[in-house]
Amino acid sequence: MPEQIPFIDFKKEILKIKEKWIPAARKDNTGIGFTLETELGIRENNYAKHDFIDNNQFKGTRFELKAQRVNVYNPTIPKPRKVNDSYISLVTQAPHDGMKNSELIRKYGYNDSKGRERKNLYATLRTTKFVNGKNVKNMKISREGKHLFIIHKDQKLSKYDLTKFVDKLANLVVVRADSEWQLCNCNKPTLHDSTGKYHEFFSFKEPHVFTGFSLDKFYKSIDEGNIFLDLRMHIPTNDTPTEADYDTFHDHGTGFRAKFRTIPQFYDNEIIF
Ligand SMILES: [Zn+2]
Repeated sequence: MPEQIPFIDFKKEILKIKEKWIPAARKDNTGIGFTLETELGIRENNYAKHDFIDNNQFKGTRFELKAQRVNVYNPTIPKPRKVNDSYISLVTQAPHDGMKNSELIRKYGYNDSKGRERKNLYATLRTTKFVNGKNVKNMKISREGKHLFIIHKDQKLSKYDLTKFVDKLANLVVVRADSEWQLCNCNKPTLHDSTGKYHEFFSFKEPHVFTGFSLDKFYKSIDEGNIFLDLRMHIPTNDTPTEADYDTFHDHGTGFRAKFRTIPQFYDNEIIF
């Protein structure tokens, strides 16, 4: 399928909604990204390498767009206010070489603690130390030049070519938002919570526009432990899934993540408006 990346005037579109309360257009974790894309006029596409091309201030630049909830307020739960300090997913990517995700989980996965018929492999791998948890031990990542390896003890399991991310990460926009579940009487009850009364609203804050991705700085951030490889996968144990089943349904985004505050470390320029 050919790439069809939408052209938008990003600054104009984001300033139309900035600081306003926008009802979620989808009710789940991905609702924030979907709502932002909908408001900006970007049709969700999972096949294109980039999310949009700016046709004004950043003439013809292709951007990756990320959204993140920060202050979350839900009056229907016991602790209604919380600050979300979770990582931003930079790239979701299965290994380029060596053991595939499906092979990693078959060998290093562990039985589900909630009794479901599945094996899980969830771990956050850094270069700076081995994981030593209850279920996953002796694993880390290690970089040699442009290659990044998943390591178990002293054995290289899987390999990534980090230069393959340059195009994808070249230019990045991060928009953070406050999230608030508000009483709502709109005509889309499927978007409401279990009481049927509350709808999540987002107040998008100033966007951070990062340009000038630096591979050398990216390497440094990896080496300092500021970029992690999150393994996030599970696989059923009650049948024999095919490779296609595995890739389609059970890899929940194994990929590289970083905290928002560390992203400026690997870009030359940051613009906020
Ligand atoms: Zn509503």
